[in-house]
Amino acid sequence: MKKQAELYSGKAKTVYATDDPNQLIMHFRNDTSAFDGEKVAQLERKGMVNNKFNAFIMQKLEAGGVPTHFEKLMTEDESLFKKLDMLPVECVVRNISAGSLCRRLGIEEGMDLEPPTFEFFLKNDQLHDPMINDSHILTFKWATQDEIAQMKALTFKVNDILKALFADAGMLLVDYKVEFGRYQGSLLLGDEFSPDGCRLWDAETRKKLDKDRFRQGLGDVVEAYEEVAHRLGVNLEPIPDNI
Ligand code: C5P
Repeated sequence: MKKQAELYSGKAKTVYATDDPNQLIMHFRNDTSAFDGEKVAQLERKGMVNNKFNAFIMQKLEAGGVPTHFEKLMTEDESLFKKLDMLPVECVVRNISAGSLCRRLGIEEGMDLEPPTFEFFLKNDQLHDPMINDSHILTFKWATQDEIAQMKALTFKVNDILKALFADAGMLLVDYKVEFGRYQGSLLLGDEFSPDGCRLWDAETRKKLDKDRFRQGLGDVVEAYEEVAHRLGVNLEPIPDNI
């Protein structure tokens, strides 16, 4: 599989074409950003950790019945994926109150949310990813009714699988964001799943182990990501040459 032209460079990942029109290579960079790109930094090892973390999670999700775009790890900080036609919406499920939910609704951080909430956001940095609902999605044709139903069902399925996975490793899955895309008539989970796009707390101490460490200037960002990886059993050792 040969890496070809750069197709797109986002805030933390760069996407390359390959010699197969149906596949892409995604490079997980060390760049990190928050507040729609207002706060940025380079964090040593983050690209490698997120690449391997994402591969581990995508394989767990696939095994649990969530179809994903992940194909295989390529290098320390690159993986191969199916090329999706991404829907311009983000799906967020919350098990515990934090972040924008608290700011919007004036509730305190740390409340158990039962049942968990589901929210759609429009992917648009200039507009600061506004919250949208099914009606907006249908009217502006960002997805079909059937795709809306599938996105909700699959995002909750992700919750069932990952809440248990993190709980077994002594962590609380507070909330997370996922994205979907079309591939040959099916909807697949796209983008990435890493501590950049979810909130994870230690189950005992509620210590933050995710990107909130960067957003809130708490320090030891990559160290926390590595701790999460180690607790889950993600292999962060260098990939041998012969695979
Ligand atoms: O900021 P908010 O509380 O709405 O974020 C909910 C969850 O979605 C968090 O885990 C956050 O990291 C993630 N998220 C993301 N990308 C965005 C917005 C939110 O990964 N653009």
